[in-house]
Amino acid sequence: MAGLKTAKVKKKDEIKGKIYCANCIHCKLVRDPAGSIGQYYLRVRCEAGKWRKKLGEEKVYKYFTVARRSTECCDAYEPMGDPKEFMKELKKTLPIKDEAYR
Ligand code: SF4
Repeated sequence: MAGLKTAKVKKKDEIKGKIYCANCIHCKLVRDPAGSIGQYYLRVRCEAGKWRKKLGEEKVYKYFTVARRSTECCDAYEPMGDPKEFMKELKKTLPIKDEAYR
């Protein structure tokens, strides 16, 4: 019985689990030109076109916020690996604020 109970809890957790866009093949890193020549900011976009503003325009997000992009379900989600491991490693390398690169 104890084993059965554990299995139920695990199943419930899997259903409750959310999808992290950063772990999806359609989440792409792109460069957004900054004011100075040769400088750019990093942005992320959903190549499957799922991120939209209210009026239908595409929405892009600042790269340093990518770990916050999540959804409960997505019909285009294609995971690139184990979400827990992926997110753990990603968080170690993400910048803490929006930065301009050259
Ligand atoms: S396809 Fe879905 S899961 Fe993948 S990045 Fe776009 S919104 Fe996120």
